[in-house]
Amino acid sequence: MYTIGVVSDLHCGAHTALRLTPQNTIQEKLLAKWLTVAEWLQECDLLIINGDANDGQDPKGRNMQVDDIPWQIAEAEKLIMMIKPKKIRMTTGSSYHVGDTIAYEKFLCGYLSRRGVDTCIRPVQDIIVYDWWRGLFRHAIGRSGVPHGRNTAPTREKIWSTLKSAAGAAETGYVIPPHLHCFSHVHYYTKSEDAFGTAITTPCWKASGGKDKYGAKFFNDHIDIGAVKITITEDRQWTSECKHWTAQVSQESERV
Ligand SMILES: [Zn+2]
Repeated sequence: MYTIGVVSDLHCGAHTALRLTPQNTIQEKLLAKWLTVAEWLQECDLLIINGDANDGQDPKGRNMQVDDIPWQIAEAEKLIMMIKPKKIRMTTGSSYHVGDTIAYEKFLCGYLSRRGVDTCIRPVQDIIVYDWWRGLFRHAIGRSGVPHGRNTAPTREKIWSTLKSAAGAAETGYVIPPHLHCFSHVHYYTKSEDAFGTAITTPCWKASGGKDKYGAKFFNDHIDIGAVKITITEDRQWTSECKHWTAQVSQESERV
C-alpha cells in the first residue's frame, strides 16, 4: 500500500496561520489540529505540499504577523518535518504569497532536501503509483462563493484534462487517464466523483478572522482546515479521505 498525504496553504507568517509557538487562540486551535493531522499522515510515502506554504509579504491581504521570509520558510520546514514524510513533492503557489521574481518556495524545497528528504517543486506534480494510478496536483483553481458552484471549476479542469489525455493517447498509444485531480488555493474542501474520475479541492491552514480583507470578508462564506490522505494498493484499489474542520473563528483574540 502506498500513502500520499496532501497539505496546502499553510501561509506561515500570517496572524491566523499555523505557528509552532501560538501567539493567539486561533493559532492554538490550529496547532492542536495540525498535531492530529501530523499523526494521521505520519511517515507517509509521499507528501504533496500543494502551494502557499508561506504567506510572503501578502500584498493583497496584509495579514502579516511575521513578514520575515526566512522565518516563514523555516517555520514551514519545521511543521512539515513533524509528519516525517519519506518523499516530498511541492507545487508552485500564488506568486503574491510565495514570490514571483524570488521564488521563496524554492528555498523551502532546498531546506527540506537538506533534511535528507527527496524533494522537488514543479508547477504541476504528475504522480504515477504502481504503474496504474495517476494523480495530478496543482495549486490554482477558480473559487466560487456559491455553495453548489464549488465543484464547477475542479470538475471542468478534470474533464478538460481527461480529454487531453484521450487526445494524447491517440498519438502516443498509451496514456493513463488521471484518477485524481487535486487543487488547492480556495481554502475549502470539495470532492466530486463521476465517470471521468475524482476532483478535490483541499482545506487550508489559515483560519478566518484575520485583520485582512480576506480573513474578514472574502473567506467569511466558509473555509476548511485540514488535510487529505490517499491510499493506493497494487491490486488497483484506491481511496481518498479528508480530515477537515470548519474554521469558524470570526474574531481574533490575543494573549497580551
Ligand atoms: Zn492560500
